Amino acid sequence: MEVFECEGCGAALTAPLSRVAFPLYAGHGYGNGHPMPVLMESGTYAVDEDPVLTARSIVIAPGDAVGTALVQRREYGACCGIDGRNGPNVTCAGCGRKVATRIDDCSLWQATWLEPTAVRPVPAGPARPVADWAELAEERCGTPLLDLTGEWDPRWEAEASVTLAHLVAAADGSPVTVDRPLAEAFRRFLAALPQGRPAKHTVLAGPGVPLPERLPDIAVVPRHPQTGEPWPTPPGVVAAPLDIGFWRHLAFHREHPARPTIGRLPPGVERDDPLPPHPWRPLMAVHSVFFHALSRIPAVRPAWQDFIRDNASALLYP
Ligand SMILES: [Zn+2]
Repeated sequence: MEVFECEGCGAALTAPLSRVAFPLYAGHGYGNGHPMPVLMESGTYAVDEDPVLTARSIVIAPGDAVGTALVQRREYGACCGIDGRNGPNVTCAGCGRKVATRIDDCSLWQATWLEPTAVRPVPAGPARPVADWAELAEERCGTPLLDLTGEWDPRWEAEASVTLAHLVAAADGSPVTVDRPLAEAFRRFLAALPQGRPAKHTVLAGPGVPLPERLPDIAVVPRHPQTGEPWPTPPGVVAAPLDIGFWRHLAFHREHPARPTIGRLPPGVERDDPLPPHPWRPLMAVHSVFFHALSRIPAVRPAWQDFIRDNASALLYP
């Protein structure tokens, strides 16, 4: 674990934090006027090794900042909160140095971005052991895709956009078919891929969900929550990684299909369970997240990149 200290006076600026994989969608907006959750889990931080959007690269949960003060100023253009457009707005309470940017406006992930040149990480106790896949296989609790009102979790739409980028990249000019339970999420998008060549088949696979004997071309696999590495697939099977929480939901929490029933409820039994939530609109891809994820996938042929760019509307907004 690490604590980030002020480069100026050495004061601790964060709680002890464990490093986790950087969420690719961290710097990207979502929708318009959408209330947003905190990006990082409390007690964790992430570093963008290859920042392209901004100079911001170290991200923590706002609640994990200590010994800091928010610069009170008008943020022209911000809407429901602070959008950080004027640069660092958090100072070290010890020496007044600007050390971070707090962001909590609508449609932006709530986060505090530490200034890489104003802070330094110092060891603060043993690192959290990295769980192996066997350990991760024991946990079956998934992250719901929807809230109770039928609104998609913004994190699910962002994560699905990353996975979609991997599926489209792996298509490489061929159609892609997806098995349940992936079909509901991805089939609409993949319908815009060129038809004609033999289809590449995609299944869900990972700890507790083995690959079928006849290997697929592509597997949607969980991403390790600490290292960010995808679940390893054998040669010839392209891995399309997905956040492990949503992966578990798809793998282990499929909704039971509604079945017609006959008769009545027995006396004394009341039908008081809420029905499972249903989305009020189809899943949408986040354009900027999709293309950012695509740009980080190595070896996508330039001609195929051109096709994806030229057909972005059909692929992302079917
Ligand atoms: Zn300081």
